[in-house]
Amino acid sequence: MSCGFQFVNRTFVSTMSTNAFQELMKSSRKTTEKSPPSKRTKVDVAKEVSSNKSTSGKHFWKSGLTHAMNDSENIVESTDSLVIIKDKYQKANFHYLIMPKDVQLNSPQKLTNLNLHLLKDMQQKAQVLINDLHPKAKFKIGFHAKPSMDHLHLHVISTDFVSSCMKTKKHWNSFNTEHFLNLSDLITELEEKGNLDDYYPNDKDIELYLKKPLRCNQCPFEAKTMPSLKTHLDAHAC
Ligand code: AMP
Ligand code: ZN
Repeated sequence: MSCGFQFVNRTFVSTMSTNAFQELMKSSRKTTEKSPPSKRTKVDVAKEVSSNKSTSGKHFWKSGLTHAMNDSENIVESTDSLVIIKDKYQKANFHYLIMPKDVQLNSPQKLTNLNLHLLKDMQQKAQVLINDLHPKAKFKIGFHAKPSMDHLHLHVISTDFVSSCMKTKKHWNSFNTEHFLNLSDLITELEEKGNLDDYYPNDKDIELYLKKPLRCNQCPFEAKTMPSLKTHLDAHAC
């Protein structure tokens, strides 16, 4: 399996016409319709990027998800407010990203109680996706505290973490330490405090989380290297 492997069979997704997923998505605009999945078309996005004076290799790379959410090939489902895409470099057997169309946020850090409706919508879509496509798998649903890519994106990832793209300690710890902010905890914090000021890890802590020892997420095993952790994870998956 290469890092660009598209795990979910689109035929399977498109045949879910009578199940609960379709039912909850009934206000959705289907990706097969002629209308674009977002009000901003591919051309709009391209114009925005090319007109941005700070456009550089890095900026262009960081905006990859904004481009991906406008490409119907990547889209699992699209609603008026959200797009669900497959993660192109999936770090587990099943890995999706849920992205709001209109929110101008890159990091979850600035989310407030004003975003609660959106977050609960994302949470519901994630749950429906899991129930319909992977009812037997366990998942984590949350944000990276320090995302590498622009445009707010919620990770919906199976906890096997078996993938050829799971390569580095940073990859592992980004999902398996406090660097991964569970959506349900984040929603609770926003409901109680209204913002994430007391909750969000600072840059120094984030750096420490990403350097933590490689601990298995399913037993007490601590691996010395990523290859040994990956061999160990394969054994859990059997
Ligand atoms: P984060 O570290 O939270 O910013 O995660 C960004 C995610 O986007 C990673 O899991 C990448 O594998 C994924 N990714 C990067 N480029 C693309 C793309 N063009 N299409 C879909 N997913 C992507
Ligand atoms: Zn283990």
